[in-house]
Amino acid sequence: MTVAIANCRRCGRLFNRVGRDICPACVKDEDEKLATIRAYLRQHPLANIYEVAKGTDVSYDEIVQFIRDGRLLLRNNPNMVYPCERCGTPTQSGRLCANCAKEMGRALERDMRARDDRGLEANDQGRGKGYYSKS
Ligand SMILES: [Zn+2]
Ligand SMILES: [Zn+2]
Repeated sequence: MTVAIANCRRCGRLFNRVGRDICPACVKDEDEKLATIRAYLRQHPLANIYEVAKGTDVSYDEIVQFIRDGRLLLRNNPNMVYPCERCGTPTQSGRLCANCAKEMGRALERDMRARDDRGLEANDQGRGKGYYSKS
């Protein structure tokens, strides 16, 4: 594992980075918030994100971030939906709704294939310059 000094993505403090991009204080803060949200959802399974935000003192954006990051899993919470970043359809995981995720996946695949081709070309050129066969 690499250890490096980094700025916390969340509070900006310098910390010894051990894998995550937020500092231990923020990790603890987030864990506590997640625990509060989960407890609230156990008691109010039909709550929506606004109600949870109000009931837990965690901001709407933070709750959405937790869901997008896959840290807050929604199983029996049909009202915990937020709009897809692309088309606005209510969604419960990731940044995009199922449809957009599929479309973007296809676009990404095309993109990566195009990049792969370019990458191979660049490699071949690089190899041609300094490489001589010993035979
Ligand atoms: Zn922090
Ligand atoms: Zn969408």
